Amino acid sequence: MARYRTSVGIEVHAELSTRSKMFCRCPVEFGGEPNSRVCPVCLGLPGALPVPNRSAVDLAVRAALALDCTIARESVFHRKSYFYPDLPKGYQTTQFGETNPIGYGGGMEIEADEGGVKRIRIRRVHLEEDTGKLIHGIEGGTGIDYNRAGVPLLEIVTDFPPDITSATEARRYVQKLRDLLVWIGVTHGKMEQGGLRCEPNVSIRPEGNDSLGTKTELKNLNSTRSLQVGIEFEVARQARLLESGRPVVQETRGWDEQTESSYAMRAKEDEDDYRYFVCPDLSPMQFDDAYLEHVRATLPKLPDTVRERFVNEYGLAERDADRMIADRAWAVWFDACVALSGSPKAVLNWMISDFAKLLNESGQAVPGGEGEPTLVTPEHLVELTRLIADEKLGGKAAKSVFAETFRTGEPPGEVVTRLGLAQVSDPEEIASLVQAILGENRPLVEEFRAGKSQVLGFLVGLAMQRTNGRVHASLFQEELLRRLTED
Ligand SMILES: [Zn+2]
Repeated sequence: MARYRTSVGIEVHAELSTRSKMFCRCPVEFGGEPNSRVCPVCLGLPGALPVPNRSAVDLAVRAALALDCTIARESVFHRKSYFYPDLPKGYQTTQFGETNPIGYGGGMEIEADEGGVKRIRIRRVHLEEDTGKLIHGIEGGTGIDYNRAGVPLLEIVTDFPPDITSATEARRYVQKLRDLLVWIGVTHGKMEQGGLRCEPNVSIRPEGNDSLGTKTELKNLNSTRSLQVGIEFEVARQARLLESGRPVVQETRGWDEQTESSYAMRAKEDEDDYRYFVCPDLSPMQFDDAYLEHVRATLPKLPDTVRERFVNEYGLAERDADRMIADRAWAVWFDACVALSGSPKAVLNWMISDFAKLLNESGQAVPGGEGEPTLVTPEHLVELTRLIADEKLGGKAAKSVFAETFRTGEPPGEVVTRLGLAQVSDPEEIASLVQAILGENRPLVEEFRAGKSQVLGFLVGLAMQRTNGRVHASLFQEELLRRLTED
């Protein structure tokens, strides 16, 4: 079988985190009674006039800047005309043309399959509105819910010819793009709710062949996993066609999650079919330097920058740095701990183990994250790690202390005192504990002297039991050995 090269272009639609729709004041929410959030504007009733949502425009510019795009100084809205029942106006308001997006000529780096990083060029970032949704009844018949019609969308299109050359790179691109957009607060990015949708176009060509093959576009992918599996399926399907001497047909294909296969939906339309023209109801948007500087100033440090700092300044492993930038609130919280002169590694270990687990179980989150805010503060966690470093708290007791702080918000030091969990490390206390344990276990002492060394561990275990895990294990063992070998 001939070897093929894969090329993938991707369009991503992200629902913008605005309170209201793109051109009217209807609220943006998920779910709810069908057609409960509609008005003459988003239903396209005659005479209704659209007014652009300022906050949607700000978010789009924000995203374009974060994606390293050049911002168009003037940008206009177009009408894309086509007929489909989910489109009440008979056209979609969008932005058309290479020189008329919000931003163009951008890019984002991802990890390449062959190692290292690779820049995925972004051709354009523009605004448009979402359509309604058809609801097919179980007993036949179809209804339409227009709650989603007019919701502001950001469309992000990769450049041509495609830089993405595999299903795994496509997945990493969408994952990273999603994380970035959530990080800068322009979208909630929930793929399962349709808040972020991606449509890859896939083509293959024989190795050594310069011109790209015929592409097919995939729809209905509702997770980054489906995106990867969907592209892999398309690549294999196209290779089978070429192997058997049949052509790949340019078309839009749907992804069936159940059978994990794609099916033909419709032949791909040409852009001419949409009769794009400038929307006469909306005046052009103009972006001057002052405005762009203002938006730029409100952008937080981007994930790649923060990640690099975590690796270079805090000495985190790449993998750990990735875990700490998974979400912005999490990274900010971590940073706050380190700023309190916490040891980055000690803090990290607690955050990715006990803290992450307790947050997950309780549905809580650090402030700014998704969930009820936790009672644990950076001060608490740093105090805990210091108690451990100063040998005032043993590892096992520390877990109970942290769980208690998590539950009540009580500082770890106070929990230690209240519950009597301080580590036993005082030499005299240790010595008398050794004395007591040896006194009660004479036969074991004989066994040890006869060469049975595993007795040692058992005696340490007894001391742990007696002190509820509070004894400093290595100090105890040291003293124990000294006594066993001396008399
Ligand atoms: Zn409306």
